[in-house]
Amino acid sequence: MSLHSTQLPVFISTIMQTINDNADEVAELDRAIGDGDHVINLQRGLLALEKIKDELSSLEWSPAFMKIGMTLMSTMGGASGSLFGTLFISMAKASNNKILDLTVFAQVFNQGVEAVKQRGKADLGEKTMLDTLIPVASALMTDAADDVNIVVALDNAKMAALNGMQSTKQMIATKGRASFLGDRAIGHIDAGARTSQLMICVIADVLLQELTTPA
Ligand code: ADP
Ligand code: MG
Repeated sequence: MSLHSTQLPVFISTIMQTINDNADEVAELDRAIGDGDHVINLQRGLLALEKIKDELSSLEWSPAFMKIGMTLMSTMGGASGSLFGTLFISMAKASNNKILDLTVFAQVFNQGVEAVKQRGKADLGEKTMLDTLIPVASALMTDAADDVNIVVALDNAKMAALNGMQSTKQMIATKGRASFLGDRAIGHIDAGARTSQLMICVIADVLLQELTTPA
């Protein structure tokens, strides 16, 4: 199985729906240990992507990722805007002239996550979106190397995202606004870790449904 950019409109619409459905919860998370705007920033970015989704579906992956990254960068704002923008711009560079099967996608995503780490000067265990993104990248890389079945790989990616998101609850933040709170950040899930998990899980679910529905 390989990914096609013609799937992007469905990915974008489904992500928007999921983020909208969970908007109150995410706003509450960012209010507890941030300034409350994370979901609004993300919704602004997603709305901008929704408007260009037909154009995106006509592009190859690399220019599509570049356009997504630039759009998020210029519309979202917040720390998350430049970080999600960086993720996709780096994925654009990594996916030039490539067909995205599991192995290539794992490498492309991993490179994107590495760029987010550099941009945010952050790593695993600092109570950020990276606590979702890094475990997912690792799971994909491991499963691609082991040549596991795509359905298993998608399930593992979902599990990695969920566990990673949950892991932020017990952490003290050392990056971002939550780092000002010290111990008081403990007990709250990071908003960016939650939205990253929601987006990854919903894309995995769309793909799983395609794979398991007879044509
Ligand atoms: P802001 O913090 O500027 O208000 P948002 O509310 O949109 O921006 O996004 C906050 C999210 O960004 C956090 O929940 C966290 O997941 C992520 N984040 C903040 N700083 C960093 C960083 N240095 N590295 C990785 N992720 C970060
Ligand atoms: Mg915020």
